[in-house]
Amino acid sequence: MSRKPLNRRSFVSTVGLAGAATALAACSKGGGGECDGEGGGERIEWKMVTAWPRDFPGLGTGAARLADYIGRLSGGQLTVKLFAGNELVPPLEVFDAVSRGTAEIGHSASYYWKGKVPAAQFFSSTPFGLTAQEINGWIYHGGGLALWQEVYAPHGLVPFAAGNSGTQMGGWFNKEIRSMADIQGLKMRIPGMGGEILRRAGGTPVTMAASEIYTALQTGTIDATEWVGPWNDLALGLFNAAKYYYHPGWQEPGSILEAMVNKAAWDALPDHLQAAVEVACQAVTTDMCAEFTWHNAVALRQLQDEHDVELRAFPDEVMAEFHRITVDYLEEQSAADPDFARVYAAYSDYYSLIRPFSQISEQYILNLRDRT
Ligand code: CA
Repeated sequence: MSRKPLNRRSFVSTVGLAGAATALAACSKGGGGECDGEGGGERIEWKMVTAWPRDFPGLGTGAARLADYIGRLSGGQLTVKLFAGNELVPPLEVFDAVSRGTAEIGHSASYYWKGKVPAAQFFSSTPFGLTAQEINGWIYHGGGLALWQEVYAPHGLVPFAAGNSGTQMGGWFNKEIRSMADIQGLKMRIPGMGGEILRRAGGTPVTMAASEIYTALQTGTIDATEWVGPWNDLALGLFNAAKYYYHPGWQEPGSILEAMVNKAAWDALPDHLQAAVEVACQAVTTDMCAEFTWHNAVALRQLQDEHDVELRAFPDEVMAEFHRITVDYLEEQSAADPDFARVYAAYSDYYSLIRPFSQISEQYILNLRDRT
C-alpha cells in the first residue's frame, strides 16, 4: 500500500510555500478567471454543500471553519461559499451533488454513503474500532487516506479527513440495560454500522433527523437514542427525555468527518491551492477534535451537576456480544464486496499494529492516572 497521506509536501513546507506560490502564480494559470485575488492569480469560487444544519455545533461550525481556512490560506484566491443541509441539496445528497459537480466540495460523514460505497464506513467510524488519535495515524501516515481516495475515485471524488468528533457516547435510554435480554425489541435511533449491529443483536434500529429525536424519545416512539456526546446531546435537551446516559460509544469510538472534492475541480487547482485545501482539512481535523474534547468535558459536568443525569456503563456481557456480532458482520461484508474486503484488511492490519502500542502508552497512562 502506498504511504502517501498528502500527495505533495509535508504540512510545514506547504504552509510556508502557499504564500510564496500565491504571490508568484499571478495570472499564469489562465483559464478565464479574474486576476485580482489578493496574492495575484486566477480567482476561483467554490460551492460547499454540507450534511449539517447551519452553525450546528462542532460539525456545522467545523464546515464553516474549513471554508474560512481555505479562503485565508489561499490569500483570497479560492473562496468557498457554504450551503448548509437543504440550502442547495438535502443533507444526504452531498455525495451525489459533489460527484456530479453541483458543488465543488462537500462536508459530511462517509458512513452516510454505505449504500453506494460500503467500504466508506471505515473512514468514519467502525464499532469497537480505532480512536481519533489512532485513526489519524492510519489516515495521515499509514496509507488510510490513499485507500479512501481509491474507493472514492470511481465516483469522481477526492476525499480528505476534515474533523473528528472523538469518542461518542452510547446514548440515552429509558430503561436500564442489564443483559442481552434488555436489547430484544429495543427501538433505538442509531445509524450506520452500529444500527446494523443492534438489529442483529435483536433490537430495532431507526434513523431520523436531529430535529425529530427529542420528541420521538419523549413520546416513547423510540426507547433509546444515540446522538454524539455530552456537548451535542445537552444542546438537544435529551436529558429531559430519558433517564439513563450510557457509555461508551461502542458504535463510534472516533468518528472522522470528511471533505470531498469534485475530481475535475481538484485537478483544475494549481499546486498551492491544492495545498491550501489539504492544510485547511488537516487544521479542521485537529481543531474539531480539540473543540469536542473541551465542550464535552464542560457539558458532562453540567449534565451531572445541574441535570442529575444518571451515567451507566454497558455491561461487559452485552459489549462482548456486540463485538462478536460486529466481527461477523465485517467478515460477511468482506465476502460480498472486494473494496470492503481490501479496506477491512488494511484497517485490521493497522489495528493489530497499533493495539500493542496503545496498550502500553495512552491506555496505560490513563489507567495508571486513575490508580495513583
Ligand atoms: Ca453518533
